[in-house]
Amino acid sequence: MHKKYLPITLVLAVLLALLAVMGYRTNTRTAPTIGLAAEKQIYLTFDDGPSTVVTGKVLDVLKEEGVKATFFIVSDRVAGREDVLRRAAKEGHTLGVHSANHVYEQIYASEEAFLSDVERCAKVIKRVTGVTPDVYRFPGGGGAKRNTYAKLLQEKGYRVVAWNAVCGDEEIPNASAETLLCESVKTARGKQPVVLLLHDSAPHKETAAALPAIIAHFKSQGYTFCKF
Ligand SMILES: [Zn+2]
Repeated sequence: MHKKYLPITLVLAVLLALLAVMGYRTNTRTAPTIGLAAEKQIYLTFDDGPSTVVTGKVLDVLKEEGVKATFFIVSDRVAGREDVLRRAAKEGHTLGVHSANHVYEQIYASEEAFLSDVERCAKVIKRVTGVTPDVYRFPGGGGAKRNTYAKLLQEKGYRVVAWNAVCGDEEIPNASAETLLCESVKTARGKQPVVLLLHDSAPHKETAAALPAIIAHFKSQGYTFCKF
């Protein structure tokens, strides 16, 4: 090579190398996103806890399975169960606002009452775990004024999380773990992503019992487990 061309060749070589590195970086950044769009996703969401017996068991199963979930908290149930709540936060699960007391007549009495309920719950989560919650689930689905309340929540920076599949632990009286699995599979069919509603309040021991099979089923179907 003629000496005269050496500097320009070097510059070109450096430029090409830079482009290659940038291209590689871009590819590694975008590849997972492209993958996610086609991926089957499921969000496990637990309402109405924490409870002493059920929440602990649910956390044990999630830990064992390496799965993260979202818990929508009733803050009046936190007293005496602070450790459970702290454990959920520490183990990487999302804590969201459900209600202070879960009494529909009080929550939905007025816009002021609604916001004060949200605020009261959020404060307890923050005080106990240090986490500032930014997801919300309407107790009982939100009722007639749901859209008005949703707007208020949005203004406060909350994402409202509904569900599109149920395990049946509230809908089917005394459902066995097998029934809860069947109902989860049935109601999740055709949904993408699946947002599965479960409960970890005290009466729902069968939900905790069904959880390993529910997780195993969706794992076997190639689902990725997500949290909000
Ligand atoms: Zn609820």
